[in-house]
Amino acid sequence: LMQIAIPLNFIGFIYREIRQGLADIESMFALLDVPAEIQDAPDAQDLKAVEGTIRFDDVKFHYDVARPILKGISFEVPAGKTIAIVGPSGAGKSTISRLLFRFYDVTGGSVSIDGQDLRSVTQESVRGAIGMVPQDTVLFNDTIAYNIRYGRPDATEEEVREAARMAQIHDFIERLPEGYAAEVGERGLKLSGGEKQRVAIARTILKAPPILILDEATSALDTHTEREIQTALDQVSRNRTTLVIAHRLSTVVNADQIIVLQAGEIAERGTHTELLAMKGLYASMWDRQREADEAEERLRAAKEAD
Ligand code: ADP
Ligand code: MG
Repeated sequence: LMQIAIPLNFIGFIYREIRQGLADIESMFALLDVPAEIQDAPDAQDLKAVEGTIRFDDVKFHYDVARPILKGISFEVPAGKTIAIVGPSGAGKSTISRLLFRFYDVTGGSVSIDGQDLRSVTQESVRGAIGMVPQDTVLFNDTIAYNIRYGRPDATEEEVREAARMAQIHDFIERLPEGYAAEVGERGLKLSGGEKQRVAIARTILKAPPILILDEATSALDTHTEREIQTALDQVSRNRTTLVIAHRLSTVVNADQIIVLQAGEIAERGTHTELLAMKGLYASMWDRQREADEAEERLRAAKEAD
């Protein structure tokens, strides 16, 4: 009972502390996680993330000892390259992104950035080097400008607008009666899923981190909105080390490497073309996706004809 009572209390404490109301997932996790399991080593140094090379070396992980989640995962993402992780739900994809953000420590093997083991550096410096666009973005109850500027508080107005332009949300904001001063969130303007994602992307563009994590950033969107946002995401990930967890395979076609994760193990890896030629798991996922897309397309055409 104590184990449940303490975190609930703690959440209550945080809730009262954040006056403008509960907040985006990234900072919420950061707040919740600092006093939890993960502690900085006494001699922890700041991460020197100049290049952004990511390395998972025989990574093992479990939330619960009885149930291994990652069973020895190894891969390297050279600085500036894009790696995609695909695979069935529950395979451990998001867990990989959480280990990279160091919400948890590995239970075997190591994760490093530019050769520095994440356990030897400060959490703050790791999170400063990584931009995360999660699946569901929760915005602050504040202005749109505040929500974008959160990525880099000292950004100028022009920089905020430029980030919004790149995320393809600027025109939408300009059409609002109050523009960038419009209040959003629970007490303000309700934005659609796609609009919120674009605000999150603008924030990440402004932060300009050397490493980017996109965890099914577009999975909640319809195909049309997803295509628009994909353009913005392609821009952000250019020249940045990017880990993209994708729901739709069409968004990973251009990744430098694709990892197919299944039940905590790497089942296949390669480029899109290489994986198709293997005629294995990826190839069958690709076929299924194409059939689903075609069915969706037919449905839409039929609706429009009505
Ligand atoms: P994916 O992103 O591939 O769908 P996840 O990495 O989120 O998968 O989860 C992998 C497995 O770990 C799932 O079976 C999930 O139920 C379990 N899991 C995820 N988060 C936790 C947690 N905080 N505590 C216990 N089990 C978890
Ligand atoms: Mg996931």
